[in-house]
Amino acid sequence: MSQAEGGKEPFECCHVVINSQEKVSDVYTQLEKLGEGKFGKVYRLQEKATGKVRAGKYFRTRTAKEKEAAEAEVQLMNLLHHPRLVQCLAAFQGPAELVMVMEYVAGGELFERIVDDDFEHTEPSSAQYLRQILEGLQFMHGQAIVHLDLKPENIVCVSPGSHWLKIIDFGLARKLAPGSPVKVLHGTPEFMAPEVVAFEPVDFTTDMWSVGVICYILLSGESPFQGDNDMETLSNITAAQWDFEEETFSEISEEAKDFISQLLQKAPRRRLSSAGALLHPWLQHPQGPSSTKLLSKERMKQFLTRRKWQKTGKALLALNRLTLLSQNPERKASEGQDEEGLSLMWPWSRHILLCTAGICGIQN
Ligand code: ADP
Ligand code: MG
Repeated sequence: MSQAEGGKEPFECCHVVINSQEKVSDVYTQLEKLGEGKFGKVYRLQEKATGKVRAGKYFRTRTAKEKEAAEAEVQLMNLLHHPRLVQCLAAFQGPAELVMVMEYVAGGELFERIVDDDFEHTEPSSAQYLRQILEGLQFMHGQAIVHLDLKPENIVCVSPGSHWLKIIDFGLARKLAPGSPVKVLHGTPEFMAPEVVAFEPVDFTTDMWSVGVICYILLSGESPFQGDNDMETLSNITAAQWDFEEETFSEISEEAKDFISQLLQKAPRRRLSSAGALLHPWLQHPQGPSSTKLLSKERMKQFLTRRKWQKTGKALLALNRLTLLSQNPERKASEGQDEEGLSLMWPWSRHILLCTAGICGIQN
């Protein structure tokens, strides 16, 4: 195990070999649930020998495909030793699940922290967050890995009250190789780049688009492509239709707006790279005294409330579908798609077919 300085906090990292000799419960005590996803659940863990607190991502690995996906996440994380990226510290393979033990990131989602009363939300503090996200991404991209699921929920604070961030969740990340184009059919509509919506090859610049969306929301509380439904959102993205609303952006500097404009470019090659973005004047030059003006948190609160409703709504619809299925097991899972609007969300026939077949993963 090695240590490096990441900001002020020590940074622990190691190369993980999946352990199939011991059970995770031999080494760790399972504490409360921290989160839940499509793969399984995340729990807080305590190492029995040392008392150290960790996070354990429990993947269901009943099928070969599930096992492969869980192993791939561990292997990718072995390439991602950087203080701005959450670290995998151990992994245990059991008969039906793989548990990935990570450092515990205690501060929760950045956007949730920002709306706390004692958190100062200004343009310079936002630039500081962007700098950290880009440092993490620059390292990832240097390893030829693209994250593909950058969104506010996956940007977390090291501790409550801390301004140090980490990127989490490499569940959709992919290693790119020259000459082998990668196309993906998953993501969260609001943050998807136009090439993902069009089912064209992704690139490191795909993450840069999502950084542009995150930055836009961070400074304004408004989501640039959000429509009344997912289909409208995807169509706004395809048209690369967005602007700086006069009212919400009246207090925002020209440098910040230029930064966003250079990321929300429909043509991937016209977007700033992670290294290029770090050199942008908005992140390079400390801003003048007027920039210490507090940014409104009200719209950000509304954004967070909407995201929660979106997730709850989709979870309820999925539950509803499961209930219908259990009442009538003859009914195929794919028949329930329209209740969730999945097949309606994606306007292109190829995607509709793939979504109906359950291959496409639109997330909340
Ligand atoms: P998903 O693919 O379902 O989004 P994540 O890796 O983002 O999976 O984990 C789901 C949730 O679990 C996160 O949103 C977060 O709340 C919590 N979580 C994940 N990793 C950690 C960690 N290392 N420390 C603390 N909480 C975590
Ligand atoms: Mg996540």
